[in-house]
Amino acid sequence: MIIVSEEICQQVIGRQDAFDAVEAVFGAMAKGDAYNFPVIREAIGHADALYGFKSGFDRAGLALGLKSGGYWPGNADKGLTNHQSTVFLFDPDTGKLKALVGGNYLTALRTAAASSVSIAHLARKDAKVLGMVGAGHQSAFQLRAAAEQRDFEKVVAWNPHPEMLPKLGEVATQIGLEFEAVDRDQLGAEADVIITITSAFEPLMMASQIKPGTHIACMGTDTVGKQEVDPALLAAATVFTDEVAQSISLGEAQHAIAQGLIAEADITPIGNVINSAHPGRSSADEITLFDGTGVGLQDLAVASVAADLAAKAGTATRVAL
Ligand code: NAD
Repeated sequence: MIIVSEEICQQVIGRQDAFDAVEAVFGAMAKGDAYNFPVIREAIGHADALYGFKSGFDRAGLALGLKSGGYWPGNADKGLTNHQSTVFLFDPDTGKLKALVGGNYLTALRTAAASSVSIAHLARKDAKVLGMVGAGHQSAFQLRAAAEQRDFEKVVAWNPHPEMLPKLGEVATQIGLEFEAVDRDQLGAEADVIITITSAFEPLMMASQIKPGTHIACMGTDTVGKQEVDPALLAAATVFTDEVAQSISLGEAQHAIAQGLIAEADITPIGNVINSAHPGRSSADEITLFDGTGVGLQDLAVASVAADLAAKAGTATRVAL
């Protein structure tokens, strides 16, 4: 078996590889060729940590395994990332452990790939302004990946902690985009595509602030209780997701579902659009919303690619089990 470190992951796999892998696995999920197993997430009663695992099997891509890890709030004081994860890949023919792959960089890469797949398939082709709500660790990855999907000219951004915005502004400048910190009314009025990537537990963007034709990717809500947008926005929008079961239980749609504003049947797996079983956006005025909840199969998909590329490059560490 091989070990692929965080550092090697950063060397071997990039945004396009992640986009292709995530798009393919969303398509496989919608066809029933790939499925996620139930997620485990527990407060372990030590170091305030939340620990768990996400697992699944992609019969089409032959990726079997799990991502194990969680959130250790005290890590920042130790100079470590609060989110820690490792991907374990198994040989689907024998069950033998194939690879251990660092999961921290890959998590950011695959999460940005998910919103970027949604933009590629659902945003208006003439989108010019990208709105960012959130300015934490994930936001830079989100911005870089989104910027490759449309001919954006400008980024407008808002964050509950405004002091975090200049760092995101530097990323925009690096990739040649104008950057402006704005209030939420201006963000909604200007943005053609919006990404929300915060740890919010209350709506940050209201339905009345979103203009017709917007595509919004809600990426921060991945847990029961979290929320980034007004539930009325989901009723006004055509809603897509990575996995419907997660969307209605722990994704952004949980609130609109609980309030009876939308039904499970109103939510379309984005894989159906990828597989051309759903037309996606139907008019220039339609608001499309992608509820990106984050599934284990995304982790397995990018980790498989990283393991293959590292093995090919000779940079993976081989260990006899
Ligand atoms: P981070 O801690 O680096 O940044 C947090 C962001 O949320 C910042 O913009 C911060 O200003 C904002 N924020 C913090 N507390 C808030 C509050 N109480 N109300 C509103 N906003 C608040 O985190 P990150 O790594 O950038 O992750 C952002 C979010 O994305 C988290 O909720 C994380 O769980 C989620 N996430 C989702 C996926 C997925 O697949 N959908 C994957 C990774 C992370």
